[in-house]
Order: sequence, then C-alpha cells, then structure tokens
Amino acid sequence: MKGTVFHGPNNIRIEEVPRPRAGAGEAVIRITLTTICGTDLHILRGEYPVKPGLVIGHEPVGVIEELGEGLSGYKTGDRVLVGAITPCGQCRACLSGQWAQCGHGDGVEAIGGWRFGNTIDGAQAEYLLVPNAQANLAKIPDQLTDEQVVLLADIASTGFSGAESANIRIGDTVVVFAQGPIGLCATAGAKLMGASFTVAVESDPVRMKMSKRMGADVVLDPKQCDVVVKIKKLTRGGADVAIEALGIQETFENCLRCLRPGGTLSSLGVYSGKLQVPYDAFAAGIGDYKIVTTLCPGGKERMRRLMLMVQSKRFDPTPLLTHKFSLDQIVEAYDLFGSRRNGVLKVAIRP
Ligand SMILES: [Zn+2]
Ligand SMILES: [Zn+2]
Repeated sequence: MKGTVFHGPNNIRIEEVPRPRAGAGEAVIRITLTTICGTDLHILRGEYPVKPGLVIGHEPVGVIEELGEGLSGYKTGDRVLVGAITPCGQCRACLSGQWAQCGHGDGVEAIGGWRFGNTIDGAQAEYLLVPNAQANLAKIPDQLTDEQVVLLADIASTGFSGAESANIRIGDTVVVFAQGPIGLCATAGAKLMGASFTVAVESDPVRMKMSKRMGADVVLDPKQCDVVVKIKKLTRGGADVAIEALGIQETFENCLRCLRPGGTLSSLGVYSGKLQVPYDAFAAGIGDYKIVTTLCPGGKERMRRLMLMVQSKRFDPTPLLTHKFSLDQIVEAYDLFGSRRNGVLKVAIRP
C-alpha cells in the first residue's frame, strides 16, 4: 500500500509500505479521507521527534476492511471515524474518564495516549491499523459525509475541549488567542458552552473572517492594536476565560493579562523551549487564576458526541476544509498547508 513516510527533518515521501493485518482486538480500515495537522508540520520540520520510517498522520476516516478476533458490533464495510488519540478503554486514565491520557502511570510510550503517526503507523496511507478497536471505531451515521466528520478526529475535539476544560459558564466572556484550525474550533466551542461574548485575536485576514463565521463577536488584530488593553475594556475588567491556541510565550502571557482576577487560562498550544510565567501577568501569585491544559480527547464515545453536534447542525466544520489533494500529492499538500498560502485552513487528502 501507499503511505506517507517520515525519513528525517524536511523529508517525507509517499512510498510502498506493507499493508497492516489485524491482530486480536485490532482492526484495519481502508482510509477514505484524512488531513494534515499542525503537529504533522512540527514532525516534518524535526521539531517533534518520531522514528524515521514511520507512516505519519492521525486524522482517519475510513471503511472497515478487516476485523481482528474479539471485536463485536462491527462488520467489514462499516464507515468509521477514529479519533486522533486512541484510548484503550481499560487503563487507569481511561477508566477515570481521561480519554486523552491513556496509559498514564503504567509504562507509557509517550505523553498521553497519542499513538497514530507518533509511536505507531498513522493515517496518511491507504490502510491503517487501529489498536484497541472496540474502544475506537465510531460508526458514521449514513447522513454524514466524510468531509463533515474528518475534522472531528482531532481539531474539533481539541478545540472544543479547550472550552470544556475551562469550564465556561453561561454568560462568560471568552478570549481566544490565534485562529488557526484549532483556535477556530475553540471559538465555536466557547459559543456552544454558552459564552455571551467571544473575542478572537488573529491577524491573518482569511482567519479573521472565518473566526466570525465560527462565532467570534469581535476579532482583534494584534498588529493593529494593544489587544490586552482592548480586551480589558471590552470585557469590563478582564475575560472570564482566555484560551491559548498557538503555543508561544507571548500569547500565553497575554492570555493571563486578559483575565479578570479568578479567571481561567485554558492552554491548547504545544510549546517548545522554556515557558515562563511573568510575575506581573500572574498578578504576583494573588490573582486566583487557574491554568488548565488539554490534549485532544479520543475514543468512540467522544467521536459519537461530536458527530451528533454536526448532525444536529449545531456545528459545521466543512468551511475549514479549504483545499483537496490526492494521497499521491501529499508532499505538495504539506507545502501549501505549511506555507499558509491561498487562504488554506485544512486540506482534504483522499487516497
Ligand atoms: Zn493533530
Ligand atoms: Zn487506556
């Protein structure tokens, strides 16, 4: 089969790799649609280490091709969505309801339960081996297309989760820093959670426009104004919740600066290097701030719930899929996605 293989920094290639076979408790799906994540760009650039030879990608939609022993309720040909994170459903983290942190305290391979395109072969291929399939194959309702569900595997699950982890309450004011695909979903998530007023911070014109479509009331361009001053004014003293969706020092500390005393910083960004908490932004430790972090929740129940949100028309992720490529053109797709040219938000990849 064809797969997107990581060979080293700035070196990925489409090539022939062995087709996986399903062992006990596993399934093989034939990928019908996948996409590229910002995290894949970190891998491509050598900023997040994975083993050379690995097939990358972690956002799979497909059809069941082969079922291993021990699975029930599925048949070959079923259309399924699989989350980017594949919890086992049995370990301490899973049974404590932490669907992103599978395996913690139990000899983990990586932080959290992220395996596809990280510790095992991933989804940018013709076929994908799904571990712990009973906990991870979410059947797609007939009414939903692949395009309507592919972004639920990671970005919508992650973005919504940033709003959920912050415990947004009805009437809260929320600010979301950065409106990339995950930030846009965090904006949509804030609205779904009951925010009365959402401010997004972004300077890219395409993303600013999409931000309004996803539910932002005001979009501030950090190149045009002092966003902290402006947000304090708009929220009369500070936001209840600030969501960080970029992963850099500047936005992290600006999130803190935008909060009212007692507010919550919900961090979605993936950081590299040192992250500091300046004493002034942290109100010298007496601001009663909460800082929470989130990794994408996975598992079939999470996917079922997200698909219901699309089916009930509460959320439409399809405007975020801006470009289409075949699997053979994936290197080109990485180039476009990485350069943010032509208003690209997410690319649809069809094997
Ligand atoms: Zn991702
Ligand atoms: Zn687990």
